[in-house]
Amino acid sequence: MSDVPSIQLNNGRPIPQLGFGVFLVPPEDTVTAVAEALRAGYRHIDTAEMYGNEKEVGRAIAESGLHRDDVYITSKLNNGHHLPDDARRAFDETLAALGVEAIDLFLIHWPLPTRYGGDFISTWKTLEEFYRDGRARSIGVSNFHAHHLNRLFAETDVMPAVNQIEVHPYLVQDELRAFCAEHQIAVEAWSPLGRGAVLNDPTIQAIASRLEKTTAQVVLRWHIERGDIVFPKSMRPARMAENFDIFDFSLTSDDIAAISALDRGERVGPDPETFDRV
Ligand code: NAD
Repeated sequence: MSDVPSIQLNNGRPIPQLGFGVFLVPPEDTVTAVAEALRAGYRHIDTAEMYGNEKEVGRAIAESGLHRDDVYITSKLNNGHHLPDDARRAFDETLAALGVEAIDLFLIHWPLPTRYGGDFISTWKTLEEFYRDGRARSIGVSNFHAHHLNRLFAETDVMPAVNQIEVHPYLVQDELRAFCAEHQIAVEAWSPLGRGAVLNDPTIQAIASRLEKTTAQVVLRWHIERGDIVFPKSMRPARMAENFDIFDFSLTSDDIAAISALDRGERVGPDPETFDRV
């Protein structure tokens, strides 16, 4: 089984660079999907209260026989719970649903700049409480732009360990990634395969056929070599195994440049500046 590299976060804690995402995995299928992913070797699961499957993620991990600390678990604060008391209650519920005393990483899912009077600062300060009391081993944000992060830097104490943002070959996000790197914030690339949209791209197909790999493997390898953390989602065991099997080859710098040049600024998900669904 291949070894997944770890990235060291800005608080010194390691995170496996490759994990398994469970967005849109229905709760009734989640125990089976996560159990299969753990069997395939994944040791990092990315869930969220919004996904409605934290309980099933917790159950699959508990039933796997693995030690709790051998599986890295991330979850996220749902959009309706940004007020401090709501965030405290929601965090308690996340820990209870997962069946853990502490979570490895807890994120603000969306900045929601048009809600709560634009106040994600008091939300972040509430996550700092969870970090200080040890129930969140690391805390971070998701879908934050540089100007959102600048407000956190100016008004709060703890630097986010990660920023989880949409990144794939059609949305390479080099400016925001460079900003995060400058501030020692690790980037997690969500929808790393563009939800499948990039997998028939001729440039990626040509590289894949030269390397005798699949296009999904080439795209995931591109993320890994750029230094981002990824957690592709698939319900199919064969694809889970394929997406995990990316550590026995490498891309040339020309391959990486050619894939990065596919950027179209094209999102598959919502724009964080306007997204306001609670
Ligand atoms: P993804 O880019 O991982 O694509 C998933 C889809 O790609 C699957 O449904 C499947 O159809 C296809 N696929 C997967 N492996 C394949 C393979 N080997 N060959 C062919 N097709 C394949 O998209 P995603 O699920 O949106 O993103 C991954 C994870 O990122 C999510 O599960 C979730 O954990 C996280 N996420 C976070 C946010 C956020 O706002 N923070 C938003 C979306 C996703």
